[in-house]
Amino acid sequence: MVNCGGLTLEGTSVSTLETCVAVRELNLCFDIGKGPRYAVGMDNVLLTHAHQDHAVGLALHIATRKLLDVAPPVIYLPAVILDDVQNLIHAWERLERRRTKYTLVPVKAGERYDMRKGLFFRSFPTEHSIPSMGFQVFEERRKLRPEYIGLDGPAIVELKKRGVEITDAVEIPLVTFVGDSTITPVDRFPEILKSQVVILECTFLAPEDRPMAKKKRHTHVADIIERADRLAGCEHLVLSHFSTRYTREDVKRELAAALPETLKSKTQILF
Ligand SMILES: [Zn+2]
Ligand SMILES: [Zn+2]
Repeated sequence: MVNCGGLTLEGTSVSTLETCVAVRELNLCFDIGKGPRYAVGMDNVLLTHAHQDHAVGLALHIATRKLLDVAPPVIYLPAVILDDVQNLIHAWERLERRRTKYTLVPVKAGERYDMRKGLFFRSFPTEHSIPSMGFQVFEERRKLRPEYIGLDGPAIVELKKRGVEITDAVEIPLVTFVGDSTITPVDRFPEILKSQVVILECTFLAPEDRPMAKKKRHTHVADIIERADRLAGCEHLVLSHFSTRYTREDVKRELAAALPETLKSKTQILF
């Protein structure tokens, strides 16, 4: 469990083994891993890509929610993998001789998707070994337009009655989940760093593993350090998805030694 101000990250992200990170306050999880118990209550799944350790639990998540008689989940996924994922779910339905209920939403980069009133996300392309995308989740608040500030209650009611739009929408970036990727999206889409919480993968740590990070399209801690100035502007930075070649102690020690002070104070680790 990682606490980031008003948001709590529950879950796990370990390269090769499993990635599923639930944000209970937002009723969503990033990736579904093996369909863990803590994710069952999440109505929305934002799937970054189809590597099995991130996606294999999808059919189980759908089926479990049906058995428990909770609302069918909404699964947002890269548009390019829609058909294959649909076929997988259909195969499980045939194998288990039952129908399930769910909504698959094919996501295109850059477009807005509303999960509920006042909560939406946009996605951005990431760079991994298979098709992939990351997500930035926003809260939308209504703010009184400057020209109406100071008006009393009855005057505001009167304007509303006349159908005058007295508020503007304000987007508050809450959380960014990059998922498996090289560091490229951080360079291409600087706005993703404006979220209250930024979750980056950091699969590789050792200097000799840098070619491997490049080859497998993952992030190396050196990529993060090279961008420390910009990342230091984040309120909460969460590093995750470490390779199983490092123990937890290795990760803590390496990060403590490698990260500059400006980053260390705002960085948390999600195993
Ligand atoms: Zn992964
Ligand atoms: Zn992957």
